[in-house]
Amino acid sequence: MKGVVFNILEEMVLDQYNMQTWNNILQELELEGVYTAGQSYPDEQLFLLVETISEKTGIEMTTLVGAFGEFMFTRLAQKYPIFLESESTLKHFLMSIHDAIHIEVSKLYENPHLPHFAYEELSDEELLMRYTSPRKLCILAEGLIRGAAKYYDQDIELSHPVCMHKGSDHCDLIVRFL
Ligand code: ZN
Repeated sequence: MKGVVFNILEEMVLDQYNMQTWNNILQELELEGVYTAGQSYPDEQLFLLVETISEKTGIEMTTLVGAFGEFMFTRLAQKYPIFLESESTLKHFLMSIHDAIHIEVSKLYENPHLPHFAYEELSDEELLMRYTSPRKLCILAEGLIRGAAKYYDQDIELSHPVCMHKGSDHCDLIVRFL
């Protein structure tokens, strides 16, 4: 995972808690906590951090990961506005994610764990996003979609009827534009 994701996680803890909490977490995990935005760090380190934040704050993992996704979208939009400039609506943006991820990431490094999104427009108001990734970070994806909806000021209903965590080989995320 890119250092920028770790930076944003730190920002979230500072934003919602304080420096002391972040430092306690680093200390407990014996991590230095210095992350360069463009550099890659082991995923396991991010998962450990999130788990420890959950323990320290008493916030359930799913809630925390979802909230992190939402927070991350807002921060990424501030840091890299260029990604969003070309898309005028939430739906167009969501439909551009698959290609954007693959183009941007392949520029930087080869990554066998890239998430894959397939799309189906169920109706004018409903978009099905089929997510497959060995990382199974569908809850993070949910949070990112909610963050994007907020950015585009678009009310949505999000459902997740099929899930890799319930034995399926993919997740179906259905976004309903209200
Ligand atoms: Zn899922």
